[in-house]
Amino acid sequence: MVDSSMDALIDFDRQHIWHPYSAIEKDDPLWRVESAQGVRIRLSSGVELIDGMSSWWCAIHGYNHPVMNDAIHTQISKMSHVMFGGLTHEPAIQLAKILVDITPPSIQTVFLSDSGSVAVEISMKMAIQYWHSKAKPKKHRFLTIRNGYHGDTFGAMSVSDPVNGMHSLFAGTLSQQYFADAPTCKYDDPCDATDIEPLKNLLSDNHDTIAAVIMEPIVQGAGGMRFHSPEYLKQVRLLCDEYDTLLILDEIATGFGRTGTLFACEHADIAPDIMCVGKALTGGYLTLAATLTTNEVSQTICSGDPGVFMHGPTFMANPLACAAGVASLTLLLESDWKQRVKAIETGLLTGLSPCRTLHCVEDVRVLGAIGVVELKEPVILSDIQPKFVELGIWVRPFGKLVYLMPPFIINDEDLNHLTQSIYEVLSQY
Ligand code: PMP
Repeated sequence: MVDSSMDALIDFDRQHIWHPYSAIEKDDPLWRVESAQGVRIRLSSGVELIDGMSSWWCAIHGYNHPVMNDAIHTQISKMSHVMFGGLTHEPAIQLAKILVDITPPSIQTVFLSDSGSVAVEISMKMAIQYWHSKAKPKKHRFLTIRNGYHGDTFGAMSVSDPVNGMHSLFAGTLSQQYFADAPTCKYDDPCDATDIEPLKNLLSDNHDTIAAVIMEPIVQGAGGMRFHSPEYLKQVRLLCDEYDTLLILDEIATGFGRTGTLFACEHADIAPDIMCVGKALTGGYLTLAATLTTNEVSQTICSGDPGVFMHGPTFMANPLACAAGVASLTLLLESDWKQRVKAIETGLLTGLSPCRTLHCVEDVRVLGAIGVVELKEPVILSDIQPKFVELGIWVRPFGKLVYLMPPFIINDEDLNHLTQSIYEVLSQY
């Protein structure tokens, strides 16, 4: 046992435990969390922080929610896990039913997996198997747009931005994909020919080898927090149809209301052939993701060789996670989430707009419950993060981006404290 005094635990952590994108034995600041309730993260020092991150887009209902807790307690008293090969259970069926109901009508089949990155791998495998079944095995590559992020596994990395994703580090191992320049049209802008031409040209030249276009719809998250015009997405859909290529939309960050619509593809009134969801799927309670597709894709895969879809993880459709998913989506759909997200959008706009006057700030942009302050220079995380903590907020900037995506349950006062604190820290930065 590790001595449970605060210093001893943190020392052990520093020496033995990797954190996301971290080094061992670095003395970057690390805060120990004791518990979390509503929108507040309580540190072991007793200090409470207002959460501006929803634990990386997940905790849309906040923490320690009684309805979520009940659902998990009920499920755990029945079974927490059972294999999914040859067996099925109600939590998986109920969850799949909700997902089929709330996604675009053409989306009809569900593959449950463990994390966003894996859901992306599965989407890529589905696209490859689809073309294999159609006797077009040469169509096995992917086209995407720069500044994207789809996860940290090899397939997902191969379609994430080559610079942000540090492709050079894994050169030789990563599959080579096609990258089009990302559109410059902002959310409210029209999308003109120069925005769509890079993708169009790559598609028209290479569609014989392209299985699918894969992209994050409307909001590119971890690759730069950029918002593009729905018109662009509409045109991508048309081009995929024209060039007989599938469209995979990665809604892992954008799904379940974050951008103001249930799924970001609704801004453009289009449907993908394959869709990935994760993150907020369980309200941040347990790790779960899903790859959804159309009957056309699933039936084609199953009618080809070897007649099945070749993926089957050990923890597929974990009942506890599925029960959390059912509870989270029911809570969301029964709430006034649309008005809440609209109110957060207004609060973010009002609260973050003054940052535009600061000399270190390049841009401020808001869409739904996402507020972004882009700086002129990258932040030094170990320097800026303690300043936010001192003001009682939890935000985790990266690169030039200081951003907020709070739980949907946040009230005006707490949201105001988040935006004011960001202004205060940046005005002295
Ligand atoms: N796709 C997108 C759009 C994401 O934002 C993320 C995670 N930030 C992923 C995929 C990967 O998800 P996970 O971290 O659950 O593997």
